[in-house]
Amino acid sequence: MARPKVLATRPLFPAAQKILNANCDVDYWTQPERISKEELFRRAADKDALVCLLTERVDAELLQAAPKLRIAANVAVGFDNINLADCTKRGVAATNTPGVLDETTADFAWTLLMAVARRLGEGEQLARSGNWKGWDLDQLVGADVWGKTLGLVGFGRIGRAVARRATGFEMKVIYYDALRAPLDVEHEFHVEYRDLNSLLAEADFISVHVPLLPETRALFNVARLSQMKPTAFLINTSRGPVVDEAALVDALEKKKIAGAALDVFEKEPQIPAGLKRPNVVLAPHIASASLETRTKMACMAAENVVALFKGQRPPNLLNPDVWKAS
Ligand code: NAD
Repeated sequence: MARPKVLATRPLFPAAQKILNANCDVDYWTQPERISKEELFRRAADKDALVCLLTERVDAELLQAAPKLRIAANVAVGFDNINLADCTKRGVAATNTPGVLDETTADFAWTLLMAVARRLGEGEQLARSGNWKGWDLDQLVGADVWGKTLGLVGFGRIGRAVARRATGFEMKVIYYDALRAPLDVEHEFHVEYRDLNSLLAEADFISVHVPLLPETRALFNVARLSQMKPTAFLINTSRGPVVDEAALVDALEKKKIAGAALDVFEKEPQIPAGLKRPNVVLAPHIASASLETRTKMACMAAENVVALFKGQRPPNLLNPDVWKAS
């Protein structure tokens, strides 16, 4: 059988290239700029597999342009860029990279939480500015993290990894999830369940870990942000559209909340001017960006592709109906 033809929209990492190159003929997009939609469609036209990023949409239009495609392997755990129904309809397997980025993403949620609470962004700017006059009693006083209440919205893999880290800070951890976790899990992670309204009213820090779905789009809207404490901080490492940015800007302007720390945005790479304020910490979607983790993610995507062409079920298949039908 001819070797499968693969389009990878980034060069990936050497370890992932090794997996793919041993089994497939791979066309890597190596230009510094992102692949354009036209180029993606052109290159995908004769490919059997696509290794893609969350910045590329996999939907009926792309699948129409790539009639031979059998798998789209997303190098991300979130897969809101993939229309699963369209993939299933055309018999295309879709895969993601769950699990390998939990700890790294949780580390970064904590990085953001601590940075916004302790005003690290402002402090860093002052330290570099040449204007720092030395220690002062009321200089850049922030909020304590230790001993406070952490509210997790979404208590899946990453939410749980964030909860585990709270123990050392002697925090009370409460969570809301569409599916309440079993009691033994709640005990193991030292967390208490709350409905969303109660969590909003009680938490000092709210960290968001839900996938982007129709039900979670603009979950943090004017009404919900208004329910937060004026001393509370919002941390978002999930997906930008889970927070209504205009509502967040309004809440910050009206001092309805104390601050926010954001890794993700509604229309990346655009960041509204209203969010560029001292009490908001901004990061360019890098929560999973450690070399170790990004390498694992790329390898996982490569392994999904290779499995399919070996006749095996891809380990991280998102649309199992495709497999049943084949
Ligand atoms: P997961 O599936 O393990 O957990 C998601 C949790 O959200 C589940 O417990 C689920 O029950 C819950 N949930 C779903 N819909 C809900 C709703 N309407 N209301 C309340 N809870 C709901 O996913 P995960 O691996 O923990 O990842 C979570 C998300 O984080 C991903 O989907 C991805 O979008 C995002 N993410 C972002 C980065 C980044 O770079 N910033 C990195 C990794 C993941």
